Amino acid sequence: MTTAEIQEEIRRLKKEKDFCILGHAYQSHDILEIADFTGDSYGLALSAREAKQKNIIMCGVRFMGEVVKTLSPDRHVYLPNPMAGCPMAEQLTREDVIRLKERYPEHAVCAYINTTAELKTACDVIVTSSSAVDILRNYPADKILFIPDCNLGRWVEKQLPEKEFVFYSGGCPTHMRVKKENVLESKKLHPDAELLVHPECLEEVSELADYVGSTTGIMAYAKKSDKKEFIIGTEQAIVEHLQFECPDKKFYLLSDCLVCHNMKLTTLMDVYNTLLGNGGEELIMSDELISGSYKPIERMLNS
Ligand code: SF4
Repeated sequence: MTTAEIQEEIRRLKKEKDFCILGHAYQSHDILEIADFTGDSYGLALSAREAKQKNIIMCGVRFMGEVVKTLSPDRHVYLPNPMAGCPMAEQLTREDVIRLKERYPEHAVCAYINTTAELKTACDVIVTSSSAVDILRNYPADKILFIPDCNLGRWVEKQLPEKEFVFYSGGCPTHMRVKKENVLESKKLHPDAELLVHPECLEEVSELADYVGSTTGIMAYAKKSDKKEFIIGTEQAIVEHLQFECPDKKFYLLSDCLVCHNMKLTTLMDVYNTLLGNGGEELIMSDELISGSYKPIERMLNS
C-alpha cells in the first residue's frame, strides 16, 4: 500500500470505528495529515475533551496519552506505539518527589506536564511551557520547587524575580544536546535569520535567541513575523511543518541533533494497526490515579 492508500484507509476506519486522532506537532507530516487535531500536548488534551468520539488515538508519547485519559476518563485512549515514551518524564518517580518535598517542606511543587501521571499525584500544580510563567505568577506560593526540567524552570525564574525557586537537575535530552557553539555556527551561516528556541534548551542557547517560547509559540511567531528566515531551536518536525505552511519563508534547524527519536517511534502503520485492533496499547489508569493526577492539572486549568 502507498502512504496515500494507508491514509485513505485510516480516514475510513476512524469514521467507521468512532475514533478521534490527535497528532502532536513533533510527529511526521503523514501522521498530521490524518489527525483530527494537531498541536502541543496540552492543546491536544483540551481538544480531545471537546471531541465527540468514544475512542482516541494519541500520536505522541505516553505522558501525553495519560493527560488525555485523565481529562477524558470515559473515553478509550490508545497509544499507537507502546514504546513511545519521553525520557524526561521518566527522570523522577513519585517517591523521588516525596523525598524532595521533605527536603523543601515550604515549597509548592510545580511539575512540567512532561511527567508521568503517577508523579503528578504528588504535585501541587502542573504547567506547560506556554503557561508556566502566567500560572506561577498567580500561584499562591512564593517558594516553588520546579521539576523536572531545570532549563525551563530557570527561564521561568528569570521572568518571576519575586518568587524563590529551587530546581531538580533534569531536562529534555533532545533540546539539551544543543550548545552555544551550534548557535554561533548557525548564525554565521544564516546571518539574516531570527533564532527561535524552546525553553527546554540550555540557558547558554536561550540567551542568544530572538524569541523563546513553546512549540505553539514558535510556530505562531514565525508565521506572523515579517522576517523571511528563521533558525529553529526545537524538534526537527517543526521545521518541516513551518516550511510546509509558509513556503515563502526559509527555516533552518539549529542543530541536526534536534531529533527526538522517541517521538519518531510512532508511524502511520502503527496508527493503522491500532484502528484494525492489531496493535497499539489502550491506556488503563485506575480511578485513584486519574483523580490524583487530575488535581494538579485542575489547578492549571483554573489558573
Ligand atoms: S522532545 Fe524531549 S520532552 Fe519532548 S518527548 Fe522528546 S525527550 Fe521528551
